[in-house]
Amino acid sequence: MRRFFVERIDPTGDTVRVSGAEARHMTRVLRMGPGDRLVLMDGDGARVQAVIRSAGKDGVVLAVERTLEAPHASPIAITLCPSLIKSRPMDMLIQKVSELGVDRIQPFASSRTVVRLPETRKDGRVRHWREIARNAAKQADRATPARVDDPVGFEELLKGWGQIEAARLLLWEGEETRDLKAVLKGTPPAKTLAAVVGPEGGFTREEVAAARKAGFVPVSLGRRILRAETAALAITALVQYEWGDLSLGTS
Ligand code: SAM
Repeated sequence: MRRFFVERIDPTGDTVRVSGAEARHMTRVLRMGPGDRLVLMDGDGARVQAVIRSAGKDGVVLAVERTLEAPHASPIAITLCPSLIKSRPMDMLIQKVSELGVDRIQPFASSRTVVRLPETRKDGRVRHWREIARNAAKQADRATPARVDDPVGFEELLKGWGQIEAARLLLWEGEETRDLKAVLKGTPPAKTLAAVVGPEGGFTREEVAAARKAGFVPVSLGRRILRAETAALAITALVQYEWGDLSLGTS
């Protein structure tokens, strides 16, 4: 059944009115109409099955049929911290890591980050990423979309994790002894993880040293040099596989 986000679901209400972009998507893009069933979610975990009663200029009116349980969230809250990269791969990164169940995406710019976001374009870009995360949540049947934060500088990123109890990993192609596999197999699963992925030009040695000082463990993903977006997908999938819920939980 198709899934849509609404602002609010009144737990005692029998009907829900949907307007704006979601209503247009329902009726104009998907050509849904009276009698069609769908799932409405409020982005905070509430979700209901509903059937369209009427659709018009003022929006779509739906009758609530039953309350649905929210899908389980991953046992690990992953914050993926990617350097800003070109817009297409960045969009893809946000979509895919959202589907894979990251909790938060915290973009940053470090010294070798080529893509810079001028203040005038920042809000629009972040809104665009949030929309991608929302659509990915619908696709993946997540209870809540991944939170996408405003980009910060590298120092601020490291500082932000100062007081938070979390595992901290920094993907570094220059790391010669410690790989992600050893860390994931050799450490008990963390409940919170910050995973930092560098820009196309990589990190400077000074940045790696600063990250170490802030408690980040540099790890390698092997001898091949991956594009930043590939590295982001790889670490998200591998962490979800070892420590998270990339499984049915039956074995
Ligand atoms: N400029 C670097 C070079 O040519 O050696 C490559 C940077 S890579 C394209 C972009 C980012 O992906 C890196 O900063 C790192 O965070 C991550 N990455 C790519 N391959 C990796 C690997 N084998 N191990 C760990 N991290 C990797």
